[in-house]
Amino acid sequence: MTPNEVDVLVVGAGLSGLRAATVLHRHGLTVRVLESADRVGGRMATDVVDGFRCDRGFQVLNTSYPALHAALAPHGLDSLGARPFEPGAAIRAGDGELHRFVNPLRRPASAPATALDDLFGPIEKAKLVAWTARVLASPPSRTATLVDSSAAQDLDAAGLGGAVTDRFLRPFLSGVLAETALETSAAFVRLVWRSFALGTIVVPDDGMEALPRRLAAALPEGTVTLGTRVHAVRGGPTPALDTDGGTLSARAVVVAADPRTAAALLPGVAEPRMNALTTFFHVPPQAPTASPLLHLDGTGGPVVNTMVMTAAAPGYSADGRPLVASSIVGTPGSTGVDEPAVRRELARIWGVGTDDWAHLHTAQVDEALPLFEAGRPVRRDVDLGENLFVAGDHRDTPSTQGALVSGRRAAQAVLARLGAA
Ligand SMILES: Cc1cc2nc3c(=O)[nH]c(=O)nc-3n(C[C@H](O)[C@H](O)[C@H](O)COP(=O)(O)OP(=O)(O)OC[C@H]3O[C@@H](n4cnc5c(N)ncnc54)[C@H](O)[C@@H]3O)c2cc1C
Repeated sequence: MTPNEVDVLVVGAGLSGLRAATVLHRHGLTVRVLESADRVGGRMATDVVDGFRCDRGFQVLNTSYPALHAALAPHGLDSLGARPFEPGAAIRAGDGELHRFVNPLRRPASAPATALDDLFGPIEKAKLVAWTARVLASPPSRTATLVDSSAAQDLDAAGLGGAVTDRFLRPFLSGVLAETALETSAAFVRLVWRSFALGTIVVPDDGMEALPRRLAAALPEGTVTLGTRVHAVRGGPTPALDTDGGTLSARAVVVAADPRTAAALLPGVAEPRMNALTTFFHVPPQAPTASPLLHLDGTGGPVVNTMVMTAAAPGYSADGRPLVASSIVGTPGSTGVDEPAVRRELARIWGVGTDDWAHLHTAQVDEALPLFEAGRPVRRDVDLGENLFVAGDHRDTPSTQGALVSGRRAAQAVLARLGAA
């Protein structure tokens, strides 16, 4: 089979492109995926540095993502060697105390301790419980159709705008959304909150890249062509691509590139604002905790989260030394927060000296996540006409779940168009 003989050409082997290719292949269509990089996975990547697994930016999987289970069926998440975090977070507050918030839905035995914690008062806690109950009571399909405000407005309206947001929700959500103003759509943030309330955070024991590698391995050999950049896309009865290696055509084309490239290749697709995240990796002589619990800074400091990765997933270290991953929103250049500043913050958050922590690696991701602005529909069109289709986290939610759903939706639209559904 040469590229010109396939039914569908897919541009990009990130999660959305791989998912689209899988669904198309399962329905009997021939597919070729063209990927400009020398590896699959796109923004979900793991670099091995001195034997440590350093994800390209701190990222996690959530067991409550339905699309994840669908993509990994029939083997499931366990087949990735998924290792769980403790459900909840520890928050270093302005009073210097470390407050532990364990998710009562996942660990009912911890509910009394969480209820008695004094990071914020009983009335604020009751409002947080009430908002969470409203979020959980609304089915995701209904939440997705909310006429939308920003997350900051939504939390204000729920009476959560003060200490709960500043000490807990902002640091927690900033690491997920890659923005601190909480200008992201409230509908998306409610969906995120729901998934954290109901699910467990996990990482594959050999790094996040295990997920896209698994999806690629399930495709017939030769489906993915690495190191091939697509320069232009043309729609029509036989849509075509200009690549490094010449022009290719097929019955349909799915552009599953990153949001900026998708907008450049497809005139009808708007370019979203991309937000940056930077993760600093340190190797301390001893782990500051044995517990796989995410730590947050409740003082408004620049480090939004920090985690002993090896406490959750020992496979992140080749030789048993601990690995700590700590993230800021933005980049050192845009924020003025460099590694020494992060290390000072870590001493305060972890309550231990960090002078002897070795700085292993920094993962700066300038274009980590598209902003999901208030008012935007949760699902954007994937069928652009003229046998051109688009997939990617900018079509759904900026998440693993969103990228996988967009890939499946684009594939279903292709199947419907080609009469193969
Ligand atoms: C730092 C960081 C942290 C994150 N944390 C989380 C998290 O905790 N939980 C969560 O659910 N999600 C998280 N995400 C989001 C999740 O990783 C992404 O939403 C998802 O990986 C996006 O997949 P995609 O297929 O839409 O795009 P991409 O991964 O960007 O894939 C696009 C692919 O297209 C290729 N490509 C681009 N241009 C061309 C071209 N011209 N020709 C050929 N190929 C091309 C690219 O090389 C790439 O492989 C995080 C992302 C980052 C970066």
